[in-house]
Amino acid sequence: MGVKTANLGFPRIGAQRELKTALEAYWRGDLSQADLQQTTREIRRSSWQLQRDAGVDLIPSNDFSLYDHILDMVAMLGAVPPRFGHVGGPIGLDTYFAMARGTKTAKAMEMTKWFDTNYHYIVPEFEANQRFYLGSTKVIDEFREAKELGFVTRPVLLGPVSFLLLGKATTANVTPLSFLDRVLGVYTQVLERLRAAGAESVQVDEPVLGLDLDESARQAYSRAYKSLANAAGPLQIFLTTYFSPLRENLKTALQLPVAGVHLDLVRGPEQLDEALAAVPADKTVSLGVVDGRNIWKNPLSKTLSVCERALSVLGPDRLILAPSCSLLHSPVDLDLETDLEDHVKERLAFARQKLQELQILKTALNEGPDAVADALEANDALFKRVAHSTRVHNPQVKARVGTLAAERPGRASPFAVRKAKQQERLNLPVLPTTTIGSYPQTPEIRKARAAFKRGQIDASQYEAEMKRQVLRVVRFQEQAGLDVLVHGEPERNDMVEYFGERLEGFAHTRFGWVQSYGSRCVKPPIIHGDVSRPKPMTVDWIRYAQSLTSKPVKGMLTGPITILQWSFVRDDQPRKDTAFQIAAAIRDEIEDLEAAGTGIIQIDEPALREGLPLRQSEWPAYLRWAVQAFQLASCGVRDETQIHTHMCYADFNDIIEAIAALDADVISMEASRSGVELLGTFAHFQYPNQVGPGVYDVHSPRVPSAEEMADAIKQQTTVLNVDQLWVNPDCGLKTRRWEEVEPALKNMVAAARQVRASLAPKPA
Ligand code: GLN
Ligand code: ZN
Repeated sequence: MGVKTANLGFPRIGAQRELKTALEAYWRGDLSQADLQQTTREIRRSSWQLQRDAGVDLIPSNDFSLYDHILDMVAMLGAVPPRFGHVGGPIGLDTYFAMARGTKTAKAMEMTKWFDTNYHYIVPEFEANQRFYLGSTKVIDEFREAKELGFVTRPVLLGPVSFLLLGKATTANVTPLSFLDRVLGVYTQVLERLRAAGAESVQVDEPVLGLDLDESARQAYSRAYKSLANAAGPLQIFLTTYFSPLRENLKTALQLPVAGVHLDLVRGPEQLDEALAAVPADKTVSLGVVDGRNIWKNPLSKTLSVCERALSVLGPDRLILAPSCSLLHSPVDLDLETDLEDHVKERLAFARQKLQELQILKTALNEGPDAVADALEANDALFKRVAHSTRVHNPQVKARVGTLAAERPGRASPFAVRKAKQQERLNLPVLPTTTIGSYPQTPEIRKARAAFKRGQIDASQYEAEMKRQVLRVVRFQEQAGLDVLVHGEPERNDMVEYFGERLEGFAHTRFGWVQSYGSRCVKPPIIHGDVSRPKPMTVDWIRYAQSLTSKPVKGMLTGPITILQWSFVRDDQPRKDTAFQIAAAIRDEIEDLEAAGTGIIQIDEPALREGLPLRQSEWPAYLRWAVQAFQLASCGVRDETQIHTHMCYADFNDIIEAIAALDADVISMEASRSGVELLGTFAHFQYPNQVGPGVYDVHSPRVPSAEEMADAIKQQTTVLNVDQLWVNPDCGLKTRRWEEVEPALKNMVAAARQVRASLAPKPA
């Protein structure tokens, strides 16, 4: 007996993205269903083995998913939306993937961000009178599969209240929680079957407990778990929460009739004492002490003292150590990284290494710290070294950022003054037309990049090819009649990685992939030290593009919050400090662009909104420093330099004041699909500066007509002044093909001209 360790979920893409390869081959028709299943069985088997080898006592099953674990729950609960034509019975692969990816006749289910991670889940849909039935036995099948291989696992389910609250009703006046009894019926069957199959415990995830809940939700918890406890009998339920401290929901969680409760002590270290004081004597507490969301080594001694405190209250048999959340959000195995510099690599732990850390902590608790003295000592020494390392800490950067942050915030002159000076310089028509930055990433571009990476062409050949692409993009824009041109971003693999590769303080992995959704993975850069910009990053490209045309070319940068959000961020200083350092580096770039004669500079911040904390009470503080970071980057320019920003979404309602506070001269945003809501926002809030709500949906291959886009512009003029408006697509065009982009942008220019003509005073 003694303290145990648990894992809450293991990455399922495979260490080399085997799942991605197999899925995409299957979708293309190049892999049979049997072969797909064989690959996924192998991924599961090797993950179970790896976890056992790492010493994990409670190994999860059903954490694997072919696409998304929330979609798996939709299947388990038989909640297939009617448009997919599923008539009942077991839900097969075709229906499963149809829900995820859509078909010719039925559009895919919506996807949205999983809490504040970069993982996206499929949003369950509930119609009036939604039925639920056991549509998939995956959780039981995978428990059996593991058992046959010799692993007695702890199956993972998303709990009923989180499942319902994360879904959406498709009919008005239906609240998801009204279906609680119906879904509980299916959960009951599942628990009974798991018990029959030999399961001893289940992990039931209720991350919603970390959000702002109303009383009805808390009551739903009590009702739901009473019913689950009845169904479970001797099967132990471990209620699992993560991403956020439970605060006012903590009591609710601890009082539920379950065997144990998991708390995320990385996101909510402060909740431990209250939990220890309030936990009933029959409950186990699982402590999430190793960060499942990041890639840094754990400060073991510090963690150990927290664990010891819990041990002294709970005793060894009621204490479990675990990662803070599922390791889904961490890459698989650091050992594969052969190219990382040692001073970075020695600070990192991926999923596998995190489990090894748990094992050290467990041993220290069960056998005393002496049993792992070497590991603890090495870890202490590492953290001491890092705290003083000049590779991490750059006093010049810290001093400069301190000075910048203390300066009077904001541009030198108010918008009205800037606007007049910018117009004098740029001389743009009303309803100026522009694009968001990227143009199609053609096969030639990809080929050249791959050849350059492999060393088959040299830097000058690569550059020449990219310049050819820039030339093409510039010529096209002139011909199409756009007013503000871009260079097209052919040289950028990714809008964050490109800058990360050019900034001091960043490192890049080879296999540090994390699932974003389905077969899509991202490889976030690692911010490991103070950030600075050794030399200009984009100036030559913009200067070259500008040399080709007399129309203004817009410089194109990624903003500090987006770079922060889409990276693994060091955790030895507040995120705000890192954001300010990135902002200072971007400020340097802006200064150089301005000196090179660039009159318009766009700073993309598509991730500003997703940085919002889970609890509303923490929004103002975040928004304050996020706005400050943007201003720190953008406000050093002269009045006549026009600053643009871009965001890829339309739900501005609750952050519109912060957006306005950015004080960008122009903001472009997505609107073509959700224009109505956006216009509603602008109807209620007098937006002071200029705006370009997108008129062309770049997520679809469809080419919108000039009339359609003219109508959209006219709609916009009902809530925004004409001289406030810009005309642009929703987002960048890199995923589109030229065949779509050419006619669409020509139509967009025609639309702007049509509306302009209709505005011109009619001759008497
Ligand atoms: N400038 C970028 C592009 O056009 C912006 C991308 C984004 O908003 N995600 O591709
Ligand atoms: Zn965008």
